[in-house]
Amino acid sequence: MDQTFVARLRILADAAKYDASCASSGAPKRVAGANGLGSTTGGAICHAYTPDGRCISLLKILMTNYCLYDCAYCINRRSSNVRRARFTVEEVVKLTVAFYKRNCIEGLFLSSGIVRSADHTMEQMMLVARRLRHEENFAGYIHLKAIPEASPWLIEQAGLWADRLSINLELAAERSLERLAPEKNGGSIRAAMGQMHERIAQAQEEKRHFAPAGQSTQMIVGADDATDAAVLGASATLYRAYALKRVYYSAFSPIPEASRALPVKPPPLQRENRLYQADWLLRCYGFTVEEIAAGGEGGMLDLEIDPKLAWALKHRDRFPVDVNRADKEMLLRVPGLGTRAVESILRTRRHRTLRLDDIGRLTSGLKRLLPFLIAADHRPVRLTDRLDLRRRLLQPARQLSLF
Ligand code: SF4
Repeated sequence: MDQTFVARLRILADAAKYDASCASSGAPKRVAGANGLGSTTGGAICHAYTPDGRCISLLKILMTNYCLYDCAYCINRRSSNVRRARFTVEEVVKLTVAFYKRNCIEGLFLSSGIVRSADHTMEQMMLVARRLRHEENFAGYIHLKAIPEASPWLIEQAGLWADRLSINLELAAERSLERLAPEKNGGSIRAAMGQMHERIAQAQEEKRHFAPAGQSTQMIVGADDATDAAVLGASATLYRAYALKRVYYSAFSPIPEASRALPVKPPPLQRENRLYQADWLLRCYGFTVEEIAAGGEGGMLDLEIDPKLAWALKHRDRFPVDVNRADKEMLLRVPGLGTRAVESILRTRRHRTLRLDDIGRLTSGLKRLLPFLIAADHRPVRLTDRLDLRRRLLQPARQLSLF
């Protein structure tokens, strides 16, 4: 491979690592057929995650890390002193196909700094997707990072070829966006999300292809003083108003020559993890933002224990829950019971009374849920009598692997 190309690839793949929104789960099942290429069905495709949880199974690159904008939290901002590089449409297409043929990736996640204009940049990304679909018969997954300031027509075109589109909200609070990314506008970001939501809903109704894996967004955490409750409140609004598939949380990482407007230290990475756990509670477990926040202090989640356990420990009067009688809503609140386990419990108990062994087969967290659950052969002491429960349930500290 041409060495200058490899050098550019290094720069643009590295620059893309700050974008968290790249999971490919939501894609429809699709196989290219005899003359085509790629598939989204998972056969011979490996999913890989970096130690901090980011998905790397897609070829994740920027078209360019030049940018006209100067967002303080971004390494690619125009005032940043980083090495710059740029790919052409042709190069990104070739690269994607080459990686796909080697079975290194399951698709493409393409983002870009803004060059010349928002429209020009959006058009370049749209052309990559169109060429992959049209000329390469590429049936793999494509996720494009849409540029909210680009013409709605260009975003609409991108949706014809991509599986997922995302627009980054970046910061939960409008005032933080004004301070740290003055060229961005929270209103236009939300307006673009709204338009995309309408197009996706309309396409679904008309049964035609338009970003079938929906839209997602990313929020940076720890670059401003927004609390976890504020971040989750913004997510809840986005899920409700624009039917987003996912909100991704990216712990702000200090960048070389960072702006003085940013904190010197990054937030603990555990904060990002707790927000992801809280996000599941919002989307799948029927919790409200207020309930989740009540598990922590001052609007911040408890970093030592997961948000479901934190809520349970602060609402001990609601436990223990009888696994053979409780309704679904309350079963979902038992620490250690996931949605699948709850469905299975509800199915099984129609035919017989559940014992602890039955629950043990459904979860790996049996030890943790013992104080919260009543089964036919298990009745724990009342939680209010167990003052040391939190300490007993804390996971022992574990050395993280470097590899
Ligand atoms: S517009 Fe995007 S790439 Fe450009 S500085 Fe802002 S966050 Fe970075």
